[in-house]
Amino acid sequence: MPESRLFQKLLLLLPLAYTNKPQLPHNDDGDHRVHHWNYEYNGNDWGGTCRTGLRQSPIRLAVQKSLLVAMPRITFGNYDTKLRPPLTLVNNGHSAHMDIPETLDNSRPFITGGLLKGRYIAEGLHFHWGSPNWRGSEHSIQDHRYDVEMHIVHRNSRYADLPEALKYKDGVAVLGVMFKIVQTPDAFFPGLNKIFAQLPKIKKYKEEATILGSLTLGQVFGNLNTRDFFTYRGSLTTPDCEEAVTWTVFSQPLPISFPAVSRFWNLRSSDGYRLVNNYRNIQPRNNRPVYYRTSPNQINNLLG
Ligand SMILES: [Zn+2]
Repeated sequence: MPESRLFQKLLLLLPLAYTNKPQLPHNDDGDHRVHHWNYEYNGNDWGGTCRTGLRQSPIRLAVQKSLLVAMPRITFGNYDTKLRPPLTLVNNGHSAHMDIPETLDNSRPFITGGLLKGRYIAEGLHFHWGSPNWRGSEHSIQDHRYDVEMHIVHRNSRYADLPEALKYKDGVAVLGVMFKIVQTPDAFFPGLNKIFAQLPKIKKYKEEATILGSLTLGQVFGNLNTRDFFTYRGSLTTPDCEEAVTWTVFSQPLPISFPAVSRFWNLRSSDGYRLVNNYRNIQPRNNRPVYYRTSPNQINNLLG
């Protein structure tokens, strides 16, 4: 069987193995809503644990509905300096998460540019994914949902830590990177693969794995074109959904292999259920401006 046929067949067969969703609790009186949230139950608003507001995330991103403006590109500070080991990937019950430590020369990776005023220090990264029969990015681009979305969470250097930063409109900046399954990735991204390689070791809630070898934060971008992005003001996509986030979502996806994505599908949540479709549903835009920064040839690519 040609490889492409085999791949399609795999995609068709795999959902059968994943359709046995656990039963939802019958007498759900809402008690879990205060202290506990879970993608299996709600996915949409996690039973009220999210704050409500007019600038929630994720949203639908489209070039035609964005303001094309001249804007500085995102600049990356200390993104090409090695991070201080150990780097730990953890299953926190909602995602695969990695705290971003300081670099070997005792500085912190940070970003500036785009809509951001001042420096935003990298705090952590995590992923959102789907299931064998559903793509799991949070934002959609041109009405397309991608297979995986990576978030790199940064905190405004004006504030002492992430919990403090979440209290302010300008507190947090998240970079969003899309991944698209391709059959034969023609690019090999050592940084990302070091992270993906540890996923089988963190299948269970609270399991941790150490990333092997050295890593710079810039390596998780592969060969991403970081000059083209959507940017807007929104919220965290997990409880409490604080409206403290300036989003920068790069418009071009990175390639990812099917085996790498399927490692995400094997993770389990805190109650032992399969941790799949850990994305929040699209939220209303409510007339918020969305800006798009690009180069002319890129616009033609996106509009086809
Ligand atoms: Zn996220």
